[in-house]
Order: sequence, then structure tokens, then C-alpha cells
Amino acid sequence: MLRFVQLCEAVSNTTKKLEKRRLVSEYFASQALKTALQAAIFLSGDIYPAFSERTLNVGGALLWQAIQQVTHKSDDEMASAYRKYGDLGAAAHDLWPSEFTSSVLTLPDVAQMLDEIAVARGQSAKLERVIALLKQCSALEAKYVVKIISGDLRIGMRESLVEEAIAEAFQRPIATVRRANMLLGDIGESLRLAAENCLDQARMRLFHPIGFMLATEVKSSAEAIACFKEAQDESQIDAQIEDKYDGIRAQVHCGSGQVRIFSRTQDEIGASFPELVPVFASCQDAIVLDGEILAWNAEAATLGEGREMGSYGAALPFSALQKRLGRKRVSPKMLQEIPVVYVAFDVLYAGGELLIDLPLRERGPILDEIVINIAADATTNPITGADQASLAFACENEIARFPRIIRAPAFRAHTAEAIDSIFEQARARGNEGLMLKDLASSYFPGRRGGAWLKMKRELATLDVVVTAVEYGHGKRAGVLSDYTFAVRGQNGKLMNVGKAYSGLTDAEIREMTDWFLAHTLTDYGHSRLVEPTVVLEVAFNNVMRSERHESGFALRFPRIVRLRRDKPADEVDTVQRVEEIYRTQHGAE
Ligand code: AMP
Repeated sequence: MLRFVQLCEAVSNTTKKLEKRRLVSEYFASQALKTALQAAIFLSGDIYPAFSERTLNVGGALLWQAIQQVTHKSDDEMASAYRKYGDLGAAAHDLWPSEFTSSVLTLPDVAQMLDEIAVARGQSAKLERVIALLKQCSALEAKYVVKIISGDLRIGMRESLVEEAIAEAFQRPIATVRRANMLLGDIGESLRLAAENCLDQARMRLFHPIGFMLATEVKSSAEAIACFKEAQDESQIDAQIEDKYDGIRAQVHCGSGQVRIFSRTQDEIGASFPELVPVFASCQDAIVLDGEILAWNAEAATLGEGREMGSYGAALPFSALQKRLGRKRVSPKMLQEIPVVYVAFDVLYAGGELLIDLPLRERGPILDEIVINIAADATTNPITGADQASLAFACENEIARFPRIIRAPAFRAHTAEAIDSIFEQARARGNEGLMLKDLASSYFPGRRGGAWLKMKRELATLDVVVTAVEYGHGKRAGVLSDYTFAVRGQNGKLMNVGKAYSGLTDAEIREMTDWFLAHTLTDYGHSRLVEPTVVLEVAFNNVMRSERHESGFALRFPRIVRLRRDKPADEVDTVQRVEEIYRTQHGAE
């Protein structure tokens, strides 16, 4: 442990990434395997490997209490040491009693004692064990044990840098280390494979999430074409185009009746969507899919082309899905009112094989077949695993209403014009824009590269008038930078539709601050009602219904495009216009 904390101090004392990497790789190479692999986990800011669902369940308050009991310091002394660093580990180091000097702990000892804390039931049992661990630490060890328990070493190490240090320590290609870690979700085990020169033995752990492939934003179809031309090195590009859905990214693992659904943050979210679980429970073969969960209106009219999608209905806006999020229990009523579907757009594992290295053009047909099979089985398959009889019954009825798994319709395009036309259709279907995917590309977990591009044009812009202003935060603390704005209702009455924080330059914000200070109607201290004369053009992602604003609508992610000094306030847009945009986006026009 002493050697480990000395390493942490040395890493923390240099700002140079290469130097950090060198220090850590030398440490890995010089330690026993058991110690090095435990260190790799701690250096990544974890206590357990990423795949593990084990947690320590020790919060800041308990840790604070433990330090106080070991050091016998007063609340004031604790608070002032904490304020000095903003870090409980560094504070503990300052306060540590001088009698705790000698170090007897090894890194595997610490890991074992952390295990005992994890399994201890109840806060007082945990507290007792945390104190027992801390009492064996010297001041420097206490500093890092506290940091490990808090989940952040704050020495400028990241998992990706630990991967690089492993590659350097054992002279293995960095790509093979990253791949093993991506598949295993276990940096310690990846270190072991690197040390033993068998990184190629890493296999994906089914029912544990792996990273999601990410997309790079392009502003236009021309930009997308340019990106693909560079990658494909051909005169005519060949891209697969899908709608960009505004839902929740979800990785489904299923097989032998077991189903787990993971979010982009790798949390399990199956419990929030109980009607999706039985859909996949029919799968006997192990399968891993990538896709999006969407709130769904099965009765919506078929829209434009892409009939596969339209014939089942259309996506509801994200605001509808939001009501289903974060619930531990979903009521049967909620199942009916906000039904969801899984729109699958990729397959990562099937037929006993990891498919991520296949090009998209080969993964596509495999996915088609899987979705057809699952959809065929799901509607007749009985519900298992639902914990409430009424919920199970509701699920059963619900699932029977329409297919809960849909293959994301995939289009092909070779030119900018073709992309633009599909884009317009996607918008007419109520979706956010397009995803453009290189047909030759493999699936790169956790990476944002040029193989997937996303294109979301702004919905429209609105001209609005500022009605209230607020002081900002951070570097905008002294200026009026947060603007509430309105559109015109009937009889010209102003009705708020949103609040924007960003978009103006610092100089403009300063100018506006002076202006608003001189044209305040009511001063509430932190905020002010102001004369409604400053007109802004704002862009936004979409329009939601809202009870917060008098207009009945709220703009999602509004951004200020520019000040419209040329436009008088009585010519700003109307609530009617906002409603029109709301309806277009829902495909109700
Ligand atoms: P963004 O959240 O704007 O970075 O866009 C990336 C997200 O778009 C992904 O994480 C997915 O949740 C979502 N998405 C929607 N439709 C698709 C699609 N057809 N393919 C891939 N990702 C999609």
C-alpha cells in the first residue's frame, strides 16, 4: 500500500500525461500480478471492475464520521480542513493522528477490507469496518483509502491512461489492451491477460454492458458526403441512413429467457420498461442488440416513406417518454398511456459470435432476421418475471396490441440531394434528423468517429422578446445573462415560452446588462422583470407542452442565435406559430 500511495503522490505531482503513464507502467511492471491488477482498478477510479455490480454503499457522511472518530477532531476542525482542499482524503491527511505512522497494509489487504465493508449490512456495521480499516493506515495511506472509497483519486488518471500504462508495461499494442478491456469491463483482468500475453483470449461477458458507438455531428448533407468521401476514398459514397430518434439509447442482452436492458450510462433500465422484457424473453440464443427505446403512438397515421416504421405508428416526443424514466415501478395505467417500443438498429452479438468487427453491410441482414424472429415469437409468448400479477396482465394485453420491436428502417443514399430528401421525411415523421452510417464500418464501442454521423438541423427559429433577466453563474456571475422570453398571444399579450443562457458574446451580454439595469420594471434582487423591447432570434431542439409557462409550451434546449435589433417587439412570433411547430414535429399536419 505504501508503494501504491507513493505512486499516487508522484502521479499527482506531475501534470505531464506521458510522465504519469511512465510512472504507472513502471509500477505495474515491478509489482506482483495480484497487486498490479488491484492497483489498475483503483487507479481507474473504481473499487470493483466496471462489469461488477457490487457497490460499497459508503456515502460522504459516513466517511466523514469515520474520519472524525479516528482523529477525534471537532466539527469546526473537520470543516476547515475540508474547505482547504475540497477533498476529504487530503483533509484526512492533514488531520491524521501522529501515532498512526507505520504501514502494514498491502493493496490486496485493502481490497479485502473494502469487500467486508461492501457486504456489511447497515450503516453502523459499515462505519465500524471503515474505522477498522482507517486505523491501520498511515496519514498518506488514509488520504488515498478515503479517496478510493469516495470514488475519485484526483491525481489525473483515467481508465484510458491506465490502459496505455498496461500496454507500455507489458509491451502490448494499445489497441489489443483497449479491446480486451472493452469486452471484459475489467481493467484488472485486462492487465492480467496483458501480463500473460493472452489478450486475444478476452471474451465478451454477456449480460454486462459494453460501450456504445457514438456519432459525430455534421451540419449539412454536403459535410456528411465530404466525411464519407474521405473515409471511403471513392467517387460515390455509400451510406446507410436511418432516422435519428429522440428516445433512450438501450443495449439489450438476451438469451435463455434472461433479459437485461442497459442505458448509455450502463445502468440497467429493464424495470422501467417491463413490457419490453418479455419481448426478448423468447430468445433462446444469446443476442446483444443496440437500439433506442421510444414512446410510441401505434395509431398514428403512416407518414411519408419508410412505411415499415409508419405502418406501426410513430414516435412520440421525448417529453412523453420522460414520464416513464427513473420509475422503479410502472403502473398498468402508465403502460397504457405511454406505450414504448424498442427500435433496433444494430446487432453486436449473435450465433455465439461477437459481430462488432463485421462491416455494417453484413450486420444489417443479421439484424433483420433477428428482429423478424423476435417479433414473431414475442406476441404469443407468456409473460415471465413480472412481479405483480396486474402488471403481468397489463403487459400481456399491451404487448398484444402491436409489435414492441421494430427494425429501424434503413435507407441508402449516394448524394447530398438524396440525404436532404430523407432528412425532410424524417422530420415529417417527427424524428430529430438523420444518422448516416458508413456501410463498411465496424462497430467501435465507446468511440465517436467518422463512421457514424448525426445530422439534426434546427427545427426553425423563433423571434421572441425578453421579459425577465437573471444573473448568471461562474464567469457570468456579475452580468445579466439568463433571459426569459415570450411570444405574442391573442390581443398581443406576451406569454413566456422559455429561458436561454447561451449564444451572445461577452461584449453583447455586458451591453445588454447595462441596458436591462436601466430598463427594469421590477427588481427581485437576483432577477428582474424588464421592459419587453429586446428581441432575440432563438433556435431550439423541439417544442414541448408545458404548464410552467403561460403560453402552454416550452422550447427544449433554446439557444440565442442573435439579437434582432432590427425588429420591434410587437412583431415577435405568436403562440399560434409555436403551436404550428409543435404540431409539425408530431406529424399531426
Ligand atoms: P446525441 O445524443 O445528439 O449525441 O446523438 C446520439 C444519439 O442518437 C445516440 O446515443 C442514440 O441514442 C441516438 N440515436 C437515435 N437514432 C439513432 C440511430 N438510428 N442510430 C444510432 N443512434 C441513434
